[in-house]
Amino acid sequence: MNYLNQTLLLSLFVLLFVSCSVEQSETEQEYSVNTDQLIEDLRVISSDSTEGRRTGTKGNRIAREYLIQRFEEEGAEPFHGSYTHEFTFNSRQDEAMTGVNVIGQVSGSSDSVIVITAHYDHIGMRDSLIFNGADDDASGTAALMAYIDYFNNVKPNHTLVFAAFDAEEMGLQGARALVQDSVFLDKVKMNINLDMIAQNNENEIYAVGTYHYPELKPVLEDIDKAGVNVLYGHDDPDSGLDDWTYASDHGPFHQEGVSFIYFGVADHEHYHQHTDDFETIPQEFYKKSVQMILNAIKAFDNSL
Ligand SMILES: [Zn+2]
Repeated sequence: MNYLNQTLLLSLFVLLFVSCSVEQSETEQEYSVNTDQLIEDLRVISSDSTEGRRTGTKGNRIAREYLIQRFEEEGAEPFHGSYTHEFTFNSRQDEAMTGVNVIGQVSGSSDSVIVITAHYDHIGMRDSLIFNGADDDASGTAALMAYIDYFNNVKPNHTLVFAAFDAEEMGLQGARALVQDSVFLDKVKMNINLDMIAQNNENEIYAVGTYHYPELKPVLEDIDKAGVNVLYGHDDPDSGLDDWTYASDHGPFHQEGVSFIYFGVADHEHYHQHTDDFETIPQEFYKKSVQMILNAIKAFDNSL
């Protein structure tokens, strides 16, 4: 074999090798979020040490202190000078209660705001059982830290406010308290709410809000879904599905006329059960779901 042939053959091999490896990397999911840290945050927030994170309990406070530390580590700025936003409300048993939201922000080039929300409280303990609420809603809460990390490196256009709400389980109280702040609310263009984004074995998650705000649907339809099947209909009276318009913390925003997209999986056997544990979360689906929602946040940040 002469030199020219050898070179040609070598080039062919190199080409073949390069094209094979490109093909391979296309079939594997690539993440721009730090998935190891995401899983670690999910594990800590939903661990037994937080005792189900019921509002007003020691476990709820332990979870909150962890979130404040993580918001700071990932470089979120405090919201209006503080990571904590305290509020009072009356419980369903008409008891005076105090809740504390954890809120931080990543400033964009504009001071108009997209507020990204999840609730860190859950339902606590019953008898001796701890209800860890890994899907509900440690999953959404852990995603907030992944997004703070991402947008601290890739600056957004809008100012992104990240709110981990307290007392969602007691009637969306943390979200209600934040929308009372009308000076803030005037700047808010949109709410993206994450509540139960991890527990699904069919690779499916619902996006709710496009029935009320149809202009948001083409933006969502255009994103890279990261291998997740995004479904619609839980806000459409003609769909035959339950209406989730007021089912979680996006409700108070919608009530004030703020457009929203809520991401959440279909109800499942672990919902509000003590088996909603870190161990039962399908981690591969969770990572893809968090990536898909990041792609949605980026698309709304670019298009609004
Ligand atoms: Zn929830």
